[in-house]
Amino acid sequence: MQKNNFILEHYPDKLQAKIERRDRQKRANTPNYINGNIFQLVLDDLKLWRVGTLKVSFKGGDASLHQKIANVANSWSDFGNLQFDFGYDPESGEYRKWTTRDKSHIRVGFEYDGYWSLVGNDSVDEEIIDPGDISLNLSGFDALLPSNWEGTVLHEFGHAIGFHHEHQTQDIECDFDWPKLYDYLGGPPNYWPKSKVDHNLRQLRTGSYTYSAHDRHSIMHYSFPAWMFITKEESRCFTDENNTLSEEDKKMMSIAYPFANEDVQKLDSYRMGNLEVLIETKGTTESIHNLHKKHLEYYQAQRTDM
Ligand SMILES: [Zn+2]
Repeated sequence: MQKNNFILEHYPDKLQAKIERRDRQKRANTPNYINGNIFQLVLDDLKLWRVGTLKVSFKGGDASLHQKIANVANSWSDFGNLQFDFGYDPESGEYRKWTTRDKSHIRVGFEYDGYWSLVGNDSVDEEIIDPGDISLNLSGFDALLPSNWEGTVLHEFGHAIGFHHEHQTQDIECDFDWPKLYDYLGGPPNYWPKSKVDHNLRQLRTGSYTYSAHDRHSIMHYSFPAWMFITKEESRCFTDENNTLSEEDKKMMSIAYPFANEDVQKLDSYRMGNLEVLIETKGTTESIHNLHKKHLEYYQAQRTDM
């Protein structure tokens, strides 16, 4: 990978500000533990979707591009109980197209800079993003597919179904050469302030969940150029480009989206129990209160279907 074409993900500034505000609201006045579980872990878990089917739409691009993206993204579904409905119409050969009031769970577009996706059901949180705004961006894919496009699709869909970066795991700390990183990422084409570098590369807040020990082969792990690490190629965080799901990714998918009915019920009960406590928590903003209430109602409705 060339030093000058190394591009990292970043949200548009406006979106980033909304996410940070929302995360602050979610954390305000909450206990450290919910039902004995670390609060941040509970929050991260609640970003996962319930097992089932997610609707996906495309803003821009043609059917052949949509088909390519859909085929690759579907690899996730081989290992967990979550399917993507791309709205394929065999008669027209077209996939679901974006509309201005689009309420599809995941809305794929190509219009913004870089690659990014909202994490899990943040994609449908209207405090963060309006229906109709895209929730997953693959810059320029509609013009030309980059060489590592398959890995990028898997990575961004990984975020869209609720997974975090593997290189930000609590498990280890990557030996990034911070002064070099600030210097490099602060310049073109990224122009990242120090805070943005930290947000994207520093370890996640204590408690953020990971389903396994640090897995450098994860599709959720960036392949950083060796110069970014103090120990270069020797770094535990150095890896070649990951373009397929690792064994640990597959395991993570099967735990987050289990097939067995008994496991689904266990997850449902766990989330409903946590949501009940969160709803009762005093001092949260009205919009967070309503978010949790809506979420609980959703799970209750699923339960009566069983
Ligand atoms: Zn990412």
